[in-house]
Amino acid sequence: MTTVDVLVVGAGLSGLTAARRLADDGLDVLVLERDRWVGGRLGTRLVGRALVDHGAQFFTTRNRHFADWVDTLLADDLVVEWSRGFGGNDGYPRFVARGGMGELGRILARDLPVRLDAAVRAVIAGAERWQVVVEGQDDTVEAAAVVLTAPVPQSLRILEAGGVELGHDEAEGLPRISYDPTLALVAVLDRSPALPHPGAVQRDVGPFSFVADNEAKGLSEVPALTLHASAATSAALWNESDSKAIASLLDGAEEFVGGREVLEAHLTRWEFATPRSVWTNRSCTVAERPGPLVLAGDAFAGPRVEGAWLSGDSAATNVRRRLGDDPVTGA
Ligand SMILES: Cc1cc2nc3c(=O)[nH]c(=O)nc-3n(C[C@H](O)[C@H](O)[C@H](O)COP(=O)(O)OP(=O)(O)OC[C@H]3O[C@@H](n4cnc5c(N)ncnc54)[C@H](O)[C@@H]3O)c2cc1C
Repeated sequence: MTTVDVLVVGAGLSGLTAARRLADDGLDVLVLERDRWVGGRLGTRLVGRALVDHGAQFFTTRNRHFADWVDTLLADDLVVEWSRGFGGNDGYPRFVARGGMGELGRILARDLPVRLDAAVRAVIAGAERWQVVVEGQDDTVEAAAVVLTAPVPQSLRILEAGGVELGHDEAEGLPRISYDPTLALVAVLDRSPALPHPGAVQRDVGPFSFVADNEAKGLSEVPALTLHASAATSAALWNESDSKAIASLLDGAEEFVGGREVLEAHLTRWEFATPRSVWTNRSCTVAERPGPLVLAGDAFAGPRVEGAWLSGDSAATNVRRRLGDDPVTGA
């Protein structure tokens, strides 16, 4: 049996932000992550010899509190400005993490206890603490507080499996939060593509919503495109096999590939890519007994990197306030 003050489910940006803050406050925190890596939708990976971002591509700062954190990363040269717009300069900086967007997760996870390959199945109310059940593991984790940061339908399954009953507003509203999927195609090319400066195209119409040249972005040493299919195209191709979906996406990508040879292609299926609606508060406390149980993630503060960070930060504030100085007695 492992016992901690706060158990965080999910090592995406929101979960790691919450865990980082609570650990910095002196609480004993553990993060459980289903995947074998941290970062969630901040996906950076190798495809052949190409290092590519295949999830989030860049981020913006609108909120002062988030901008303050980003300023510390800029000062340490961990984050750089990529551009001030795609297809024109609108004056607003678009930032990227050096070494890929996934680095944001790794920066936050440094020195945090994170258990990978640990999919949480259920959270059950015990007499004094929450009991957290992990798939395929006998070791139950006990925690005074729990923060769930998986996409909302997945968090609701964890709550349902543990018999946690929701209040009226949460029972009505949370199941209505649904997500658009994104198919992300990475194409490694024999020659550099000819995307306009700064090496990306953003569109509201057509089969692709965002196309990025990972070499021009300063990430890959070899030519490689990331092509994000629009929500409609992603939904239309979702049930196709990988090979059919890749072929269909490449057919529609001639404008970007431009006669270059595709040396390797890789498809990622982001099932819960973008929440279609956003909850009224930046995090949502769904139970107070035996301790705070808080839902967070980009569905609570906006479908972007900044929203995920703000939601994790809000969840940490909620947990801290409710736990008081003593995590067990709440005094
Ligand atoms: C294709 C794509 C492109 C995007 N582009 C941009 C962009 O350019 N700019 C921008 O600002 N935002 C972008 N976003 C959005 C941004 O990536 C997200 O808003 C943000 O990363 C969400 O973070 P999160 O912590 O809320 O969720 P996630 O990153 O999804 O983290 C949740 C974590 O929970 C884990 N998990 C799930 N179930 C369990 C379980 N049972 N047990 C344990 N762990 C579990 C998951 O594996 C995951 O690691 C993009 C997203 C996608 C998918």
